[in-house]
This record gives sequence, structure tokens and C-alpha cells, in this order.
Amino acid sequence: MCPAPDPVSNGNGTPEEMIPVDLGSAVNDNKKMDLKHGTKKGFYARPSDFLSNTSNWKIIESTLREGEQFANAWFDLETKIKIARALDDFGVDYIELTSPAASPESRAHCEAICKLGLKRSKILTHIRCHMDDARIAVETGVDGVDVVIGTSSFLREHSHGKDMTWITKTAVEVIEFVKSKGIEIRFSSEDSFRSDLVDLLSIYQTVDKVGVNRVGVADTVGCADPRQVYELVRTLRGVVHCDIECHFHNDTGCAIANAYAALEAGATHIDTSVLGIGERNGITPLGGLIARMMVADPDYVKSKYNLTMLREVENLVAEAVEVQVPFNNYITGFCAFTHKAGIHAKAILANPATYEILNPADFGMSRYVSIGHRLTGWNAVKSRAEQLNLDMTDDQIKDATAKIKELADVRTQSMEDVDIILRVYHSAILEGKLKIGQPEVLDRLLEEHHESRGTSPTRVPDAKRQRTD
Ligand SMILES: [Zn+2]
Repeated sequence: MCPAPDPVSNGNGTPEEMIPVDLGSAVNDNKKMDLKHGTKKGFYARPSDFLSNTSNWKIIESTLREGEQFANAWFDLETKIKIARALDDFGVDYIELTSPAASPESRAHCEAICKLGLKRSKILTHIRCHMDDARIAVETGVDGVDVVIGTSSFLREHSHGKDMTWITKTAVEVIEFVKSKGIEIRFSSEDSFRSDLVDLLSIYQTVDKVGVNRVGVADTVGCADPRQVYELVRTLRGVVHCDIECHFHNDTGCAIANAYAALEAGATHIDTSVLGIGERNGITPLGGLIARMMVADPDYVKSKYNLTMLREVENLVAEAVEVQVPFNNYITGFCAFTHKAGIHAKAILANPATYEILNPADFGMSRYVSIGHRLTGWNAVKSRAEQLNLDMTDDQIKDATAKIKELADVRTQSMEDVDIILRVYHSAILEGKLKIGQPEVLDRLLEEHHESRGTSPTRVPDAKRQRTD
């Protein structure tokens, strides 16, 4: 059983049932080990894949745009500034803000964030493909403008009601205007995967010719799968010269995989939000993308991003939108680096890379081995005994482990429970009160220990004991 998480934060404190394990020492210190966390080229690199950008890509962080569309989100300026600064410290390449045309406050916020003078992140704003919005956007001080328009038949019919000729003409007008102000511009379709492929390629080719910096592919409804993404982006890569940005919603759980497939096919920029917050159940999460890309090329990711900031950024956003970091979150979930099964614990203690694809130390996180449960193994218990400076033989450790497992069959033992068993066992052996293979004697000694302290031991029910005997 994993320990209960503390609210909002995660995995930070030392959970009661866990052993914190020296971070990566077995990997780093043992030169004989071939197996390490990640490799320069990744585990699945295909050297022949010349299109792949998995070692050369950028993040467009959209917590302050897409994330504002999350059901719980309402960011005041102070919160937006905190989030923008934290994302800048993390090192995202771009921060995308809500359209200044959305409301007077949105415009004021956009202008204020542009004036922060962030060091690493450029500021973008996201507008409709319309000259009115473009005129407002270029006056806010942003480094770039992301233009979007629906190109699927659903959106053309039921949303803006414009045909492809109008869309193309307006897109060219907006792009030329924004470029004339010396500002970056991206043109994106909306609901790209339900748009007509010929329409899409034709408009992307047109905007590429007029000098757009990036074209955008957006899975607005979260319907695409990695193979569709790969095929579309690869086709697009053959049609345009500019960069390709991709935006994936996570309705069917493919947002991270789709982002990876897009990069493999030649995309250059991926949209993310912290914890994936956004419209409905959101988009590719920043931490999830980082986890995925660390496997592909750890050196690239580590050289660009301040990874130990990830937990802080996530906690900040979680608090702002009043959610908890999910228990199974990538990297920062409280169980993300917790090892429980006995066979896993043994291998992890020998070399953490055996059961970890990511090294918690890279993210300022801790690894834990949980030992007070029925699946525990004696190697994990031995590690705890060593931490307690208890000098015990392997046979004694195995004997004490048998008791821990027996008691853990009644209820999971806290770290304190495990420590008591080990200490009582150790001192009883030293004092000659206990020998290996005397579980009833150990039971009596544990009872006496608890009686002397007014605490209650875990008792194995008699019926159960008869059955197991
Ligand atoms: Zn979106």
C-alpha cells in the first residue's frame, strides 16, 4: 500500500513506510554496470530516421492560455506572473498567453507579462485569424502571435461559417501584417485531423510561401492516434519549409504519445500545459512530455531545462486551480519512484536502473523502497537494518523478514513497526534471548516491548496462525 499523499504536494516528505535510498549511487559508483538511466541516443533511437526531431525540439507552454480554459482556472495577474516566472526558470522556450482581444483584463495581463523581461522564455499570444485581433496583439509587446482558425467541415459549418478561400485570404493578410511589425507568427488550423487533407496542405503551403514562422497542427478534439499523427506530420514536412508546431488534446489518452510521434515525423514545437490542464481533460502535460523526451535524449533535455523546478511549477499550478497533483503523475506523483515488490526492491538496491527508466535525482526527487508489506524481500529489510546500524547475519535478516511478512499479512507495517521488529530481534539475539527459527519467542518479546511502552503490537489471529502452521 502506498502511503497517503500530502495535499497538493507529493512525494516530497519521507513517507512513513518507505526507505529513502541513496540516489543513483549504485549506478554512478559502479563502473562495471552497463545499464544506466538513459543513454545519449536513447533506447529506441533509429539512426536512419533523418526526419526525427526527438533531439531538437521546443516547448510552447500554454498553461496561461489553454490552461485558462480548464474548468477550475481563474488566474489573477499575480498568479499569472508567478506561473510565468516559474516557467521561465524551468526554461520553457515560449509562454503562450490568452488573446488580448478576449477581455480588457486579458490585454492588461498580456502587456504586464511582456514587461517582466523574462530571461529564457519568449512570449506569445493566441488569437483568432482576424485583423481586429491581430492589430491588438501586436501592440502588447509580445514576441510572437499564434493565429488559429477552424478548418474542419464541422467548424466551417457550425462555428465561423467561412469557406477555405476566405480563410486563406484572411490568413495571408494577418500573416503579412504581423510580420511587417517584426513579430513571429504561427498559423494553425483547428481540428486538423478532421479537416480535409487537400485543404490543409494547400493552406499550409500558401502560408509557408508568405513567410510564416510555423504552421500548427491541432488535435482539438483529441481524436488522433500516434500513427495518424506521424503520417500527417510527415506529409506536411514534405510540403512546407517552416517549423511545425503540434497541439494535442488528451481525450483518449494519446496526448504524450502523439507529441512524440509528431517529433519523430519532423515536428519542431510541442504545446504543453502544466499538469495538462486545459479545455475538457486538457492537453500534453509538461511533465509527461519531459519524462518521455528524457528517455529519447536525456542530454538534450537536461541541457535545456531546469528539471528540479518541475515539482515547484506543478505545485504552483495545482494550488492555483485547486487540484492535487495526481498520485500517478509522471515524475512527481508520490508513487513515481516507489518500489514495493521484494524482487524489485532487491534489484533496485543493486542498481536503480533495473526498474527505473528515469533517475529521480535528475528531478530533485527521492527514490523509496517500501518494505513493511507482505510482498517484501529480505534484501530490502537488510538495507533498512544497515541504515539502523544493526549488525545482523543474512540468516537473521531472513528470519526477521519472515516475521515482518507474517505481521504484514494482518496489516501493512509502518516503518516504525519494521524498525521495532528489527531492534527487538537484534537486541534479543545479542542478549541470548532469541535464536533463529523461534517465532513464538519473538512474538513474546515484541509483546513485552509494546507493554513496556503502552503501545499495541500487531497480533496474528490464532485461527490464521494454525492455518499457516
Ligand atoms: Zn487546445
